[in-house]
Amino acid sequence: MNVKSLVERALFYLSVPKCVSCKSRLNFTDKVFCPECSVKFKENIQRNCSRCSKILSECTCTTEYLRHHKINSVIKVYRYVRRPDTEPQNKLIYSLKQDGRADVLELSASLLVRSLSASVKDINECVITAVPRRRRAKLEFGYDHAAALAKLIAKKTGAEYVPTLKSLSKRPQKSLHRDLRIKNVKFALLDTPDLKGRRVILIDDVITSGASVSAAADLIRTLQPKSIIAAALAVAYNDELTPLAYTEF
Ligand SMILES: [Zn+2]
Ligand SMILES: [Zn+2]
Repeated sequence: MNVKSLVERALFYLSVPKCVSCKSRLNFTDKVFCPECSVKFKENIQRNCSRCSKILSECTCTTEYLRHHKINSVIKVYRYVRRPDTEPQNKLIYSLKQDGRADVLELSASLLVRSLSASVKDINECVITAVPRRRRAKLEFGYDHAAALAKLIAKKTGAEYVPTLKSLSKRPQKSLHRDLRIKNVKFALLDTPDLKGRRVILIDDVITSGASVSAAADLIRTLQPKSIIAAALAVAYNDELTPLAYTEF
């Protein structure tokens, strides 16, 4: 074992990484999830869209609300629904927001790149940008997770990462009802990035009400891109085939 891998191993045990879902301690070869949660996660995300019947990671179906805001194509890895059995995939999102873990970011980016590659032609010619995090949350956690995700996706695909927006929202979206979320979301364009005629991929961690991503897309559209595709690890939507305890929030 060389010095570098010894140091890596020592740092690994010093930082005591835990499974993002059940919080059990990980072994050196585990990434993000313990073996049990990893199996559950992989099974859970292998689901088909009830509308186009493709596997979710290859489906680009949008929601009613997003279509209304001219977002006709949404790339996702899985569906966001709060149920006890969906804990591993939901905890992945919470960890991405709060923990600043490199393994969580890496897994999230890889999964999204796989979904994007299935549906977007010549990704390397696209511009990747992100729905920005609220300023106060950025200060609290020390980073902007959607921007970090967008940057890593750009790196993996050879696309150009262009920051386009800053957030002026005051309150966390999570605490608000849908109508208030729409009012709460405020973004401003950064010094007019040149997106004219470009295909833009707009990255967020999770799309729930759709208020953030559509407000961001509305502003980006003023820069006259050729198209805007939204992409998120998970999207909350009604699924007619499995009307189990779905709640909109
Ligand atoms: Zn676990
Ligand atoms: Zn679909």
